[in-house]
Amino acid sequence: MHNKIPLIYILGSGRSGSTLLGLMLGKNPGYFNIGEAQNLPWELKKENKLCGCGISLNKCPFWKNIIAELDFENQDVPINYFREKPGAGKVLRWKYLKDIIFGKVSEKHKKKILKYGTNNYQYFSKVRNRAKELSGSDINRIIDVSKHSYRLFFLKQSDLFDIKVIHLIKNPCSFVYSSAVKNTQFTKIVEYKQVFKMSLRWLVENYIMLKLLENHFKKEDYIFITYKQLSTDPDTTIEAISNTLGENIEKNIKKFRNYENHIMSAGQMAYEDKGLHYDDKWANSMNKLYKLTTKAITWPVYNKILNKMKKNK
Ligand SMILES: [Zn+2]
Repeated sequence: MHNKIPLIYILGSGRSGSTLLGLMLGKNPGYFNIGEAQNLPWELKKENKLCGCGISLNKCPFWKNIIAELDFENQDVPINYFREKPGAGKVLRWKYLKDIIFGKVSEKHKKKILKYGTNNYQYFSKVRNRAKELSGSDINRIIDVSKHSYRLFFLKQSDLFDIKVIHLIKNPCSFVYSSAVKNTQFTKIVEYKQVFKMSLRWLVENYIMLKLLENHFKKEDYIFITYKQLSTDPDTTIEAISNTLGENIEKNIKKFRNYENHIMSAGQMAYEDKGLHYDDKWANSMNKLYKLTTKAITWPVYNKILNKMKKNK
């Protein structure tokens, strides 16, 4: 019998401020953020494998030994199983979707889930030990910013982890605007198709996340927060996370970038670094038809999540 490894898992779709949230949480003693944990095998294949500490992953004092001791190449159901390509994974995986939506685990998936869980357990054990050595204090929770539903479903059902989840929600219009409208040279028809497609994507992804939480987690083990809340009132948001999940996270997160961290994909992050401010450009720049389309498509799930958030207040 293993001791379960305690995790905070950040769930969300698209670029939803998850990197920033991970950095804020990871600043607290006892909390150790490694970023998108499932990406490590892909990160190692990159030429620029920069860690958050500014050193290459193979030389970084935190990752060096962990990487040397793990063999990602020969794993059956490897930790990047749900990332077919470095930056992407499929949204619809029908065989697991049924289990997530109906709150069960099919017999035929159990072996695979356990293998995936065991590989991740081995990985996170090393991360926890090294984090403890490096910080000199016990690790309450490792923070995994992988965001995806299927990974979370597998980790949870392997029963090898004690997981608290933060579902970070981006306003559907903002999501669609940043992925379909902005910076494109599409014709109007193509653009409208993109708006339709990305609205559906928001709906499906967030529906799966909602069902996963409702059906597979206890109420006290997850919280919904919006990117707007996080960026306009970070202190209150962090306090709500800490209280709801029964954690010991400080709400004063000012200067949360000013500490040494070891999150992977740091090179890419620095590139996208825009700080903590609420980007509401879509409100004025997105045309009415697009907004209406997005709202109509995403309403069933978005409305349900907002109502749940109100009730939990
Ligand atoms: Zn490092």
